[in-house]
Amino acid sequence: FAPGPVFEGGDALGTLRRVFGYDAFRDGQQEIIDHVIDGGDALVLMPTGGGKSLCYQIPALVRKGVGVVISPLIALMQDQVDALRALGVRAGFLNSTQDLDERRMVEAQFLAGELDLLYLAPERLRVQATVSLLERGTVSLFAIDEAHCVAQWGHDFRPDYLMLSGLHERWPDVPRIALTATATQATRDEIATRLDLKDARHFVASFDRPNIQYRIEPKSDAKRQLLRLLTTEHAGDAGIVYCLSRNSVEKTAEFLTSNGIDAVPYHAGLDAATRAANQSRFLREDGLVVVATIAFGMGIDKPDVRFVAHLDLPKSVEGYYQETGRAGRDGLPSTAWLAYGLQDVVNLRKMIESSEGDDAHRRRSTLHLDAMLALCEAASCRRVRLLDYFGQESGPCGNCDTCLSPPETWDGTVPAQKVLSTVVRLKRERRQKFGAGHVIDILRGKKNAKIIQFDHDELSTFGIGADLGEAEWRGVVRQMLAQGLMAVESNFGALVETEESAAVLRGEREVPMRRERERAKPAKAGAGS
Ligand code: ADP
Ligand code: ZN
Repeated sequence: FAPGPVFEGGDALGTLRRVFGYDAFRDGQQEIIDHVIDGGDALVLMPTGGGKSLCYQIPALVRKGVGVVISPLIALMQDQVDALRALGVRAGFLNSTQDLDERRMVEAQFLAGELDLLYLAPERLRVQATVSLLERGTVSLFAIDEAHCVAQWGHDFRPDYLMLSGLHERWPDVPRIALTATATQATRDEIATRLDLKDARHFVASFDRPNIQYRIEPKSDAKRQLLRLLTTEHAGDAGIVYCLSRNSVEKTAEFLTSNGIDAVPYHAGLDAATRAANQSRFLREDGLVVVATIAFGMGIDKPDVRFVAHLDLPKSVEGYYQETGRAGRDGLPSTAWLAYGLQDVVNLRKMIESSEGDDAHRRRSTLHLDAMLALCEAASCRRVRLLDYFGQESGPCGNCDTCLSPPETWDGTVPAQKVLSTVVRLKRERRQKFGAGHVIDILRGKKNAKIIQFDHDELSTFGIGADLGEAEWRGVVRQMLAQGLMAVESNFGALVETEESAAVLRGEREVPMRRERERAKPAKAGAGS
């Protein structure tokens, strides 16, 4: 099959209409496209769904030669290329999934100038043969997609991306356009430095996704909470549910299915055929729910995803923003819903502590998690916090949970002191580590086996917290962790003091807390937890 006509030459708007069938550019696109067509370098920050692809596809069609697109999304290259070919664009790709014959054919097309776009996995550039192939053909531009992968500061670092710093020296006259949807100032600076794009024009689109309603609530029985959301607000809607582990993906998918919701699992442990089948059902069918690990969704372009739900806490605000950004690409009202609990914080802290990699990596991971926790515990507009994280100012949005029903705050100083006094006393017993559950049992005066075994009913803090319930205490502990007033020790998940603890214990520091919202009572019998 030899794809259709050549679209070289012509203007940007004409190409948009003729090839892609769209009437007008979206905000920002035209400027970027004109700049790259004129041979300028660009760093483009645009939210997911903003329309980044056209920013290099159109210049590649208008400029002479082949546009080379570096992308880490190998699994999607075939789909991307098929979609372009369906529009009559001559596209090909080179990655490790191809056999030698397929590769040879694409290489020949490239050299013969029979391609408009060539998608390339970054590791291809490690091979000298690829570099000399590119040198023998005519490259119209380099597009570096998912450019945040070059940043170690970011959440998705890929070492192969570091090689892209050499493009500029080898092809000084070929414009480069780096694109990402992840855009803290730190990540952006690192991209610019590493890719030698400091003199490039930076295009920063608004990161606001006004049609997405952000909601974050404490986790009590996550699957039931999710079911309530789906049945009351999103019956028959397509959506994505993210879980941290494969196991919980499987369990959640089964749970939804047994409750009459059309749901399929997606994670790296499933065989490739099942994964592909579930993904293509999601793209083609209406109203399918995919329960997935974060492996799912990169580059998936389904406009009518009505909700993205997180059953576990994301590791970073960048990740959260990117995942929730898959909702509502069509601009219609959509929900980003997250349930998180104390155990999430403990688990993620433990994961960071025991992760491989150096101290710097652990410190970065900790900062990422802290920022995510701060967003969860925010008593003011979620969107303001989120945009602020990406360096953009805004006012209260009226379309997030804290705007719609502002949380009450209360003075949690005394409960925080009670927790810390217990933690301090337990520290003296060095043989054993005691986690949040045990600390709460002591405060609530529970005489269970473990308490009796360690004589903890004789601690002076035993029973001094009977005024609050289990869930309230968990909320107190969680918020203390989020505020850095306490930490989780790596091995056993024991609670330990931080530098901030002393001031609270001495009464020199107040501890404001969000009042946990009462969960809405389940509408139907049997939906309770
Ligand atoms: P991103 O890569 O930024 O996540 P895409 O490039 O995949 O976003 O674009 C998201 C969707 O918006 C795609 O379906 C794309 O075809 C569509 N789109 C992009 N630009 C325009 C436009 N100017 N007019 C209409 N639709 C557009
Ligand atoms: Zn708001």
